[in-house]
Amino acid sequence: MRWMVPALLLLLAQSATPPATPPVATPASLPPAYPRPGATKILDTDRVQVWNIAWLKGQPSPLHRHIYDLVGVYYEPGDRMIISPDGARRPVSTKAWDIAFQRKDVTHIEEGVSDAPLRAVFVEMKQPGAYGAEATAGDAAAFPGAGATERLDNDRVTVWEFTRMPSSTRHRHMHDAVAVEIDGEHPRATWIARGTVHSDEAVANASRLYVFELK
Ligand SMILES: [Zn+2]
Repeated sequence: MRWMVPALLLLLAQSATPPATPPVATPASLPPAYPRPGATKILDTDRVQVWNIAWLKGQPSPLHRHIYDLVGVYYEPGDRMIISPDGARRPVSTKAWDIAFQRKDVTHIEEGVSDAPLRAVFVEMKQPGAYGAEATAGDAAAFPGAGATERLDNDRVTVWEFTRMPSSTRHRHMHDAVAVEIDGEHPRATWIARGTVHSDEAVANASRLYVFELK
């Protein structure tokens, strides 16, 4: 059955008149990317939803549209095929600890192709506009504490990576943030509202911690 999807889409695109407006390019009826087989929601607030995702071999997703900006981290390596609405197939190999960032409105099909599936935690940013920031840290130090590596910084998010658990230091979060602990295949995600003052991210013994600061 798998081959039929791109073939059908190609057929639809070819039969479209005029060709400048292919009927499958922006259908409002497309499902969102998640939920889908292999994806488990691990956090849901009014600001974000967070997914633990495995790209399962031989289980192509439906054609879907990503309706939110997303950021995340891959924690197990793997391969997948990304199939565009016009049927073009693009193989992608991804390493563990690569950072993902994608702006909304991407439309495609994805299918895992490696026996051991690619795995990631993705944070979907429900808020299309700015999340805002605290004006001052007050008497606390602004996050991040020592020991983090900045893996990504753009207009929507800053990603901090800890490969050792940070030492306990009182700090204030200037931005809304999601902390993701990764240890095996059951990552945990915690919402940290901007303005929060605390001494740690409530992490037990995870091997890695990522803090996604939303902007
Ligand atoms: Zn913190």
